[in-house]
Amino acid sequence: EPKSGIQWNKAPCRFCGTGCHVQVGVQDSKVVAVAGDRNADVNKGLLCVKGYHVGSALYGKDRLTKPLLRVGDDYQEISWNKAIETIADRIEAAPERFAFYGSGQWTIPEGYAAQKFMKGGLANNHIDPNARLCMASAVTGFLATYGVDEPAGCYDDLDVCDVLIMWGNNPAEMHPVLFSRVTDRRSRGENVQLIDIGTRRTRTTDACQHYLEMKGHGDLAIANGIAHLLIKNGTYDRKFIDSFCNFKAPDDENPNLHGKAISFDDYRSFLEPYTPEHVEQLSGVPAEKIRMLGDLFGNPELKITSLWCMGMNQHTRGTAINSMVHGVHLLSGHFGTPGNAPTSLTGQPSACGTVREVGTLSHALPGGRVVTNEEHRKQTEDLWNIPAGRVQSTPGYHTVKMWESFCTPTDQGGDISTIWVQVTNPGQTLPNLNKLFNPKGNNKTNLKDKFLIVSDVYPTATTRLADLILPSAMWVEKNGVVGNSERRTQQWFKMVDPPGDARDDCWQTIAVAHELFDRGNEGMQDRDDRFLFEVKNNDDKPVPIWDWEHYYDVNVDKHLFDEYRQFSRLKHKDLAPYDEYVKAHGLRWPVVEQNGEWHETRWRFSEGYDPYVKSGEEIQFYHSSTHDDRAQIWFHPWIAPAEVPDNEYPLMLCTGRVLEHWHTGSMTRRIPELSSAMPGGYLEISAEDADVYGIRNGDKVQVESRRGSIVIPAWIDGRGQPPRGTVFIPFFDETLLVNDLTLDAIDPFSKQPDYKKSAVRIKKV
Ligand code: SF4
Repeated sequence: EPKSGIQWNKAPCRFCGTGCHVQVGVQDSKVVAVAGDRNADVNKGLLCVKGYHVGSALYGKDRLTKPLLRVGDDYQEISWNKAIETIADRIEAAPERFAFYGSGQWTIPEGYAAQKFMKGGLANNHIDPNARLCMASAVTGFLATYGVDEPAGCYDDLDVCDVLIMWGNNPAEMHPVLFSRVTDRRSRGENVQLIDIGTRRTRTTDACQHYLEMKGHGDLAIANGIAHLLIKNGTYDRKFIDSFCNFKAPDDENPNLHGKAISFDDYRSFLEPYTPEHVEQLSGVPAEKIRMLGDLFGNPELKITSLWCMGMNQHTRGTAINSMVHGVHLLSGHFGTPGNAPTSLTGQPSACGTVREVGTLSHALPGGRVVTNEEHRKQTEDLWNIPAGRVQSTPGYHTVKMWESFCTPTDQGGDISTIWVQVTNPGQTLPNLNKLFNPKGNNKTNLKDKFLIVSDVYPTATTRLADLILPSAMWVEKNGVVGNSERRTQQWFKMVDPPGDARDDCWQTIAVAHELFDRGNEGMQDRDDRFLFEVKNNDDKPVPIWDWEHYYDVNVDKHLFDEYRQFSRLKHKDLAPYDEYVKAHGLRWPVVEQNGEWHETRWRFSEGYDPYVKSGEEIQFYHSSTHDDRAQIWFHPWIAPAEVPDNEYPLMLCTGRVLEHWHTGSMTRRIPELSSAMPGGYLEISAEDADVYGIRNGDKVQVESRRGSIVIPAWIDGRGQPPRGTVFIPFFDETLLVNDLTLDAIDPFSKQPDYKKSAVRIKKV
């Protein structure tokens, strides 16, 4: 309850993609309290343990407060002017060898500024976000199916569905407030079936009526098994597919995201081998459970929602399994009405808003545009008022390639020489870390021309590798706008000052833009790679729209957001003016004006909900990749994981998160309540495997893959319970880098790595 002397204001929680709203209490220029916001639709006053402690994330003792430049093995405090000049020097010396690595934790204005800085200002597409590592396969799944990204459903589905299927997903720990919307219904006596399909038992399993334990990549077989049964039993929705769907399969001769058209008969015959018994062999899930899923999807009376997150996305067949889950919903007609939706969740607070909508991926442009499309480049150049041809048509490096290039000596082809990292911790999260950073960390001699810039709020595994460290503002130390997993755009205002000389990431990006532009005006006019932002129409001279004095002021978020908003209409992702978000607890796009009021959209592509569906159409996939208003139902064959256990490395390692810690723990490990509740990393192992290896709870165990090894304490049947043959290690602990072990195999379309399936061996030490 509000107390006197405390100023309360709304903000979304800093952490996960659920997007809960909090009321932030400020007294004496400090955040002193946080409460769940009862007026917010997303969470209705609830928060999880991370949300209740989010305010403390600001006040860890080791906040970075000064720019620091590496001098030998040490760091020296420098001024912001010197830091900005140092970055500008690196860029000016080799603009084409500079890369920007960002985040789904960037606010929308921060990501938009970075995107424009690179693709417009530098004519360089080497910008990619960490979301490549967590949800890129969801993007390609949506694009392959609907021709446009992001979920058609929304969180309201959880309030009305009869069946909730979680595909390799643990929302009880990763999206707990969202999950409570459906578990609350059960505790009120409502009949809703919860089904957990996973590779280990988790807290989610405890809340479910059915647990279907699968082998890694078993999901590919299960989705095909459901489709097989729908067709065999005649329980697919013929009217829905005749009216709204086509069929697709991979084009092996010309592999591409949109594959090749197939007939319904082709689809049926491709599915023929996926009998429940065969699916049981491939997935490990008993045939009768596959039949149960087939019967559920075959029942038109039930409302079925599917949820997934990194389990399906961090997958060398991530695009395939995403498309196939959409496929079983479409084939059975469980789509487009409240409670019937395939919905991917995001881990980060603005993986949708900043990464997917703003388009900070290396192939993307704002508002769903792509650099390979001439018309999209022209629209972008026109909106930015820069010369035709300025935006480059070749996608920049995706995350794995960008870091491989940076960590490869220049004379061996490593053509990225400088990376600027904002709001993320790749020194902990990239796969196969030994391959990347041991040369950098242990022996800089062959990488001496490389330069790493890291903006962050605390020292991390990445700042330890940095040549220049910049102290950043976080959360309510700055204005912000983010977009959560259900297309909801949320806004907040700055409430407290950041510590010391910390500055927000927009300020940092614009400061470098300002410096580069000034240099360009003083001697680079004839260079094609001069830094550029806007061209005056009358005399064709560049002008700095990010002019420091006139642009960067207290309203920078509003300026950037309203500029970005112009991009949102092409793909019917319309945003409202900034001031509408100030009034609301978020609005789900498309947001359209009717009779002077702005209205959000809950269900896309569905008549009566989506303002862009024409009257009488019922369902209209108006961005269909086949230009016929139809979605694509995909067949993809089951294929084995990139690495499987063998005699040498007999166990399958899965990595993931825990309730108490935000991803790499860089913020939550500074919160005493959270770090004492979950102090360190651990190896989760079944009691049976522990017996085989003579391991007891707390024993130190060496875990070794073909790429590295770590020593870590064992937790037998701990937070989760893996089956025999599988072990689990969370990635939050920077002292126990599980990504020294992981494989860097990627999905061919999304370029997302598979962190869930690496072969390892263990021994007690
Ligand atoms: Fe924050 Fe996510 Fe917890 Fe909500 S569920 S309080 S957004 S961490």
